Amino acid sequence: MKRNSTLLCLMITLAITTFCLVGALADGDPCPPGSQHKGPFSYRNRISATCTETGHHDKYCDACGRYIGTEIISAIGHVFETRTRIITLPTCVSNGLRQEYSMCIRCGYSCNFTDESLPAIGHNWGPWIVTKQPTCTDAGVETSTCRNDPTHIETRECPPRGHKEEKQPRIEPTCTEAGLSEGKHCSVCGEVILAQNSIPPTGHTVVIDQAVEATYTNTGLTSGKHCSVCGEVLLAQEIIPMLSRKIGDTTGDGIIDGRDVLRLAKYLAGGYYTEDIDTFDVNSDGKVDGRDLLRLVKYCAGMSVTLGK
Ligand SMILES: [Zn+2]
Ligand SMILES: [Zn+2]
Ligand SMILES: [Zn+2]
Ligand SMILES: [Zn+2]
Ligand SMILES: [Zn+2]
Repeated sequence: MKRNSTLLCLMITLAITTFCLVGALADGDPCPPGSQHKGPFSYRNRISATCTETGHHDKYCDACGRYIGTEIISAIGHVFETRTRIITLPTCVSNGLRQEYSMCIRCGYSCNFTDESLPAIGHNWGPWIVTKQPTCTDAGVETSTCRNDPTHIETRECPPRGHKEEKQPRIEPTCTEAGLSEGKHCSVCGEVILAQNSIPPTGHTVVIDQAVEATYTNTGLTSGKHCSVCGEVLLAQEIIPMLSRKIGDTTGDGIIDGRDVLRLAKYLAGGYYTEDIDTFDVNSDGKVDGRDLLRLVKYCAGMSVTLGK
């Protein structure tokens, strides 16, 4: 009996459920006014919430199709991330500026700015390059350019090179030609540093060449003049011919007299020998003997005899 009542009860429940379901399908709106809607629900006219603004949507019951109400959707809040950015790059001479801040990755809202100064980097000078060559007397220019910024240029003078001295040696004057004093000039620009002056000729140093008398054996010379420095002959010496031998002039004094007789006599006596023996051969017969003495005696006595042949 109990078993039958349980089965009965199940059958009644099934019957009610079936009735209700069929009733609902038959009616089209099972959610009576004022009651809880059965759903399911759907949302329409959605306005999404942002980081800071609320959104909303309209709620409908799909079972009865009725509008239930508008629901507020809460603001979702920012999602911050720490960022940095360079506001101003530092230069050689001025500081730069870096900023740290929080930024929402969703809406881009930024806040909490913190400035940080970036120190000036200073110049980075390149090597000095000569941009204007110095001369002997004028300074040149050297230029250095900043590697960080080529509009930064520094210049300085580079000193003049100075002359390069070259000596011109002294040229001694001669007796007749002028000389030059020592000079200096610059071998680069040619400027005269020490001018050369003319040194007048010294003139000859005159030496008298003594006259030499001619003899029977040697020619003589007239007196002359020459320069002891350059050797130039200023007055030429002329040769005076040897004295011609005079037959009978045994003494060689240019006069025929008793002294010549005496000398010839002494010669014949073996007392003398002289180089000008030819003058003893009074008769020119090739030998000196008594006949020569006799003829010389006669000649000196004024007798008519000749000397020589
Ligand atoms: Zn409903
Ligand atoms: Zn945001
Ligand atoms: Zn610089
Ligand atoms: Zn010079
Ligand atoms: Zn001279």
